[in-house]
Amino acid sequence: MALIVQKFGGTSVGSTEKIKAVAKRVLQCRQQGNQMVIVLSAMSGETDRLTGLARDIQKIPNRREMDMLLSTGEQVTIALFAMAVKAAGREAVSFLGDQVAIRTDAMHTKARIRSIDTEKIKKNLDAGKVVTIAGFQGVTEEGDITTLGRGGSDTTAVALAAALEADACEIFTDVEGVYTTDPNICSKARKIDKISYDEMLELASLGAKVLDIRSVGLAKRYGVPLHVRSTFTENEGTWVVEEDKIMESMLVSGVTYNKNEARITIKHVPDQPGIASKIFLPISDAGILVDMIIQNTSDSHLTDMTFTVVRNDYSRAMEILQGVCREIGAESVTGDKDIAKISIVGVGMRNHSGIAATMFQILANEGINMEMVSTSEIKVSCVVAEKYTELAVRALHDAFALDKENMPTEEEL
Ligand code: ASP
Ligand code: MG
Repeated sequence: MALIVQKFGGTSVGSTEKIKAVAKRVLQCRQQGNQMVIVLSAMSGETDRLTGLARDIQKIPNRREMDMLLSTGEQVTIALFAMAVKAAGREAVSFLGDQVAIRTDAMHTKARIRSIDTEKIKKNLDAGKVVTIAGFQGVTEEGDITTLGRGGSDTTAVALAAALEADACEIFTDVEGVYTTDPNICSKARKIDKISYDEMLELASLGAKVLDIRSVGLAKRYGVPLHVRSTFTENEGTWVVEEDKIMESMLVSGVTYNKNEARITIKHVPDQPGIASKIFLPISDAGILVDMIIQNTSDSHLTDMTFTVVRNDYSRAMEILQGVCREIGAESVTGDKDIAKISIVGVGMRNHSGIAATMFQILANEGINMEMVSTSEIKVSCVVAEKYTELAVRALHDAFALDKENMPTEEEL
């Protein structure tokens, strides 16, 4: 008998009809002899609706009360789901986060899970019940309700799977799995059958939105096999698992893009110790996230510094940097909002050279100029003008033959 944790997102439980369909699907899996723990999100749109209500009343809503409010969305779906299972003639029980002691720290609206008490869950599973648990919420040591941040139900599911030592954690959503790139801009995008935790972490942080990134980190830490799949088909989705030999032979597994950043360049910065911190401290103090940073070496004691920030923070960052620029005696601050970061990801890059060079060649063939480059062990990212996003993604997807099950070798590229 296997123990399986399944999580259904908001679109999967968006109406009573859909909740009944989910119950039917869960019971099929239960019929095959599996013990089932079901984590649910709020109905689609509900968390946004509640957030709107709060903002109508308080411009910056009190965080403790915000958690009190937002946690209600999931209470509705688990109760309805348990009813749907009972209506189908089977036993079920629903629990809120605090009823199964999903303990978190006290960081309201973005709390982290510390521990889960599995005893009550196990007792109910052994009694033959389908156990359904509210996603996205927990409780502090003091008994205050917390939430885990938007998209946090994935994390609840993985944390439960880890604590219960479940055989698998299945994340049901409205797409078929993780794709080699965004199917909306590249018709040749292919569903990936199996991908490593590290690749998924890169893809998730680079803008692929299927899985909440925190849940992937947690799955990696506890070795929880993750299965991302569609609620609306029976097809296998994508397994996110430990890296294996086959994956290592794949040079590139996915291409992603991110249009959510802006580039900033500070010209003729004095090349001295302490200057970089003078630039980046005020930026981080303002809560602005910096991503790529590039600084060149210099002969003339003057250098240029280029980096990217989240696009929404661009104007604020430029304002702050005008002041900094004067203070440190740099020449000017310029920037560009209309950029995109295009990345290729693959664990095979660890053992192969030349992948970056191939990427540069492919972009060059399309006449696309690269403005910045950064790399990690399993990723190469290039910043290009935003208008080239689609062209760049399709060209890379084609050149690395990501539409094919079997990747080309280095020689074939
Ligand atoms: N309902 C929450 C949200 O919309 C949590 C989740 O769906 O994972 O962010
Ligand atoms: Mg969600």
